[in-house]
Amino acid sequence: MPPLVDSFGRLHHNLRISVTDRCNIRCFYCMPEDAKNFQPRSEILTFEEIERFVQVAARLGVDKLRITGGEPLLRKDLPVLIRKLAAIPGIRDLAMTTNGVLLAESAPALYEAGLRRINIHLDTLDRERYRQITRRDDLDRVLEGIERCLALGFHPVKINAVAVKNLVEPDLAPLARFGRQRGVEIRYIEFMPLDSQGLWDRDKVLLMDDILEVLRREIGPLDPIPDQDPRAPATEFRFRDGVGRVGFIASVSKPFCLNCNRIRLTADGHLRYCLFALEERNVKTLLRDGSSDEDIARLIQETVQAKWLGHEINTSRFVPPPRPMYAIGG
Ligand code: SAM
Ligand code: SF4
Repeated sequence: MPPLVDSFGRLHHNLRISVTDRCNIRCFYCMPEDAKNFQPRSEILTFEEIERFVQVAARLGVDKLRITGGEPLLRKDLPVLIRKLAAIPGIRDLAMTTNGVLLAESAPALYEAGLRRINIHLDTLDRERYRQITRRDDLDRVLEGIERCLALGFHPVKINAVAVKNLVEPDLAPLARFGRQRGVEIRYIEFMPLDSQGLWDRDKVLLMDDILEVLRREIGPLDPIPDQDPRAPATEFRFRDGVGRVGFIASVSKPFCLNCNRIRLTADGHLRYCLFALEERNVKTLLRDGSSDEDIARLIQETVQAKWLGHEINTSRFVPPPRPMYAIGG
């Protein structure tokens, strides 16, 4: 089967799989406090359906997977899926993004199933601000989850910190210091317009350059890491004293669409070529109506072929996607 090259020549080999749209916390920039329009369980892809989809995608050159959500650890028996996916020929990289609340309990089984790379979402080390952001009081559990992963040997362990202006400025340096001490990379993510409640505004985005300035002032010099993979979304820097590094997902100030290699499968079985896409294709119907692997392969190819050049957050043409972040899979 021909590889997944879009009409702009970008090769796609990276698939993000959302396994649920539900979550056990309520980050204000992602989910409304009273979120309730979750998909009924019958609409969520089964492990066997996800496995089949990935088998077909792998034959088209997909070799890198990230499990996400909603909160993926809410999905019962997740290690069973991890084991299935890790065993698919061609898959050479398997990672997960989680809010970490349930990680201390689940990390051993995930590790045993073959997961090694993990991103844990944590915006602050301050209990009150954690509560303000997530509307839950689970900071200690997340910290415990991070320690458990480090003790088990997960590598790399990274922390995703969403950067909202006039809110997390006091957290930037403490998080980076924590990362330096514990050997984990902090990835600051510019706040994106995916919040479902229309809260986003350009003025609320704490930009990469502003964060860098704070870290340089409060901790010390940072240098760009040479020869970074241009297809990786993060721009990475290391502290000049040799202790630790930080990364930035600068989707707003420095969009990386021109090098994008990702497609996304939603928990309810729709395939998207971009987080911000306004269209998507229904894979679930094909997985459930007896369609062949070739039909599924064709749908993946069509999705990649239809891909746009990039999101238009920075223009007046920008239209937020119809699904919020938790229903797409971040
Ligand atoms: N629940 C898991 C978690 O929080 O890591 C996985 C799903 S979550 C949607 C994936 C990532 O999206 C999170 O790590 C968070 O950093 C990021 N995120 C959520 N809402 C965002 C927003 N409005 N702007 C930027 N990043 C966001
Ligand atoms: Fe849940 Fe992750 Fe969204 Fe926070 S960012 S509400 S943890 S899905």
